[in-house]
Amino acid sequence: MENKFSAEDNARSAVPWSKWSRLGKIPLRNARVAQKMTNGRGPTSCMRRPTFMVTSVFLNWRPARWTACFIAITTIVHPAQSQQTKPAEPNVAAANRAVQSQLPFSDRQDFEDATRGFIATTPDPGNPDRYAFLEHEAPPTVNPSLWRQAQLNATNGLFKVTDGIYQVRGFSQANMTIVEGTTGLIVIDTLSTPGAAREALDLYFAHRPRKPVVAVIYSHSHPDHYGGVSGVVSQADVAAGKTKLIAPAGFLEAVVGEAVIGGNAKTRRGQYQFGIPLPIGERGNVDEGLGKNDSRGASGFGAIIAPNDTIQQPMETRTIDGVALIFQLALDSEAPSEMLIYLPQSHVLDVAEDATHTLHNLLPFRGSVVRDANRWSQYLNAALEQFGADAQVLIAQHHWPVWGNERVRARLANQRDLYKYVHDQTIRMMNLGLGPTEIAEALTMPPGLENDWSARGYYGTISHNSKAVYQRYVGWYDGNPATLNRLPRVEEAKKYLEYMGGSAAVIARAREDFKAGRYRWVAQVMDQVVFAEPSNKEARSLAADAFEQLGYLAESAAWRNAYLVGAQELRSGVRSGARSVPGVSPDILHATPIALVFDYLGTRVDGPRAGTANIVINWQFTDTRESLASTLEHGALTSITGKTAPNAVATVTTTRTVFESVILRQRTLADAMEHREITTLGDAKAVSDLFALLVDFEAGFPVVEPGR
Ligand SMILES: [Zn+2]
Repeated sequence: MENKFSAEDNARSAVPWSKWSRLGKIPLRNARVAQKMTNGRGPTSCMRRPTFMVTSVFLNWRPARWTACFIAITTIVHPAQSQQTKPAEPNVAAANRAVQSQLPFSDRQDFEDATRGFIATTPDPGNPDRYAFLEHEAPPTVNPSLWRQAQLNATNGLFKVTDGIYQVRGFSQANMTIVEGTTGLIVIDTLSTPGAAREALDLYFAHRPRKPVVAVIYSHSHPDHYGGVSGVVSQADVAAGKTKLIAPAGFLEAVVGEAVIGGNAKTRRGQYQFGIPLPIGERGNVDEGLGKNDSRGASGFGAIIAPNDTIQQPMETRTIDGVALIFQLALDSEAPSEMLIYLPQSHVLDVAEDATHTLHNLLPFRGSVVRDANRWSQYLNAALEQFGADAQVLIAQHHWPVWGNERVRARLANQRDLYKYVHDQTIRMMNLGLGPTEIAEALTMPPGLENDWSARGYYGTISHNSKAVYQRYVGWYDGNPATLNRLPRVEEAKKYLEYMGGSAAVIARAREDFKAGRYRWVAQVMDQVVFAEPSNKEARSLAADAFEQLGYLAESAAWRNAYLVGAQELRSGVRSGARSVPGVSPDILHATPIALVFDYLGTRVDGPRAGTANIVINWQFTDTRESLASTLEHGALTSITGKTAPNAVATVTTTRTVFESVILRQRTLADAMEHREITTLGDAKAVSDLFALLVDFEAGFPVVEPGR
């Protein structure tokens, strides 16, 4: 992390901030910025509305669970990479400066809302403040609009939303919402890790009466919302029905469905989306759009606890511990399984992740099934119709609340129209015959929403969301047969270079374009050189430089992160020898129904090597009482649950626990067989033959250069 504090700033830090601050003995490092962040009212106003760009409020961070939910890999890139970053080019600095006059930075409402109701956070003066650099003005290397979002997302602590409703924000990627019932607490979302969830609850209990958690609600099926559940409730209490655990329809299926198939690729792509390998700082990671990558508290993931109550109807009501909750299903919106929650007694609408302070993703870079923008918009419209007249506060499971009925209604309407506009205008242009790149170039913000901060693309963008809409309806193919059967990238790149007079000629011309600020083109054309000649240092360096400037220009954190990780890997390479992994995390695998476990195993079969082998096996899992018959034929592994195949060459009896440890390579099949934890009746060799066909996946496979 870079330290930009001048001697002058340090002198200012002598301001006896702790005299007024409820944050305790935490000096604000930069009084000038403090003044700016409090609408110019100066430090005294911070007594009423403290801002949290303060030392020691961003402590004890741990790497995010988001991508690690698929599999736990983090260290990919050489640690020395941060030395190689470059400053912003003059035209990039100028473009970023210009943003200051293009957007309504004088509108400070979000800063007021992000700090309203602040009670306390957990200070730890012994630890460095990773995000203190955000106290400053936006540097030339960060788009000021993103910088503003990064500042807002750095606020953290316990906040009162309204009587009986609190939020812990900034302790993990997502928010924990705590609703106070008559005798206990209803916790909406449990953060990414049990450690973060415990820290959040500890903070709450330090300032509010200690009551038992009587219910947990999962707003949706993404791990930053359920990962910490074991830090809040016990599996036994949920299983016994002592603690209610409510989830939207299809929750567990969605959890495993998104994480199990393609997990290794999603994790690797997620590193680009979230900027996981980047250093935190002005030339690195400043935010991820929805929040920070980090989680407080002890690291490590917990078990997924299955819900004991599921919302099945479009609208369902429950009364828990004296609190009425109206659930509105929003399936196939931001997540396959998601719901909005209205609390009529408090007039609070929790929109989960469907209306946050950003344009969200219709197709995240990590990879997912394309989300349905039309339905997403319809859900927000339905919420506006149903609750709009009554709601006084809008909260979400990321970012900060919006207060006041008029503002709540405007926010819902704006977000409704944002997703609808991207959807409809993409389809309109598609029907006019435009291709995905042309549509992405032509599509702009919905008219009248350009200055709505919450409509801006810090996570999704108008550009890549329009491509997602295109993909959802007509797929990857743009309809032009010239793109139907393109040469693979390396072959294509070599032919381009041959036609263009070789790499030296291409690089010389690209340098001119770089000087002229045509970074998009330079990135595109240097990609050809890198794929044709991956060891060409000049090409890698120029490609990295172009990525870097594009990252500095980006308003979207996802774009910035993707470009900067690309630059980093072009400069430093991907650490060789990154371990091979089976592509799914143990806790996710453990929660996966056996049929899907076999679907996952099918994706690990080396089809060509399997050849014409035909292996039919009956499986019995004594701990879960699951059984199935699997068939390997034509290189494809299929299965039918509950079946005993009469033509099976072997019957395998084991437990899920042992089976999972073997397929995750935590132990060998031979070892499990030797200890009779896997027993085989019939042809034992057929079982080991099947296992021998399963491949591992390389965690750090190349992305910005050809595969090895
Ligand atoms: Zn989330």
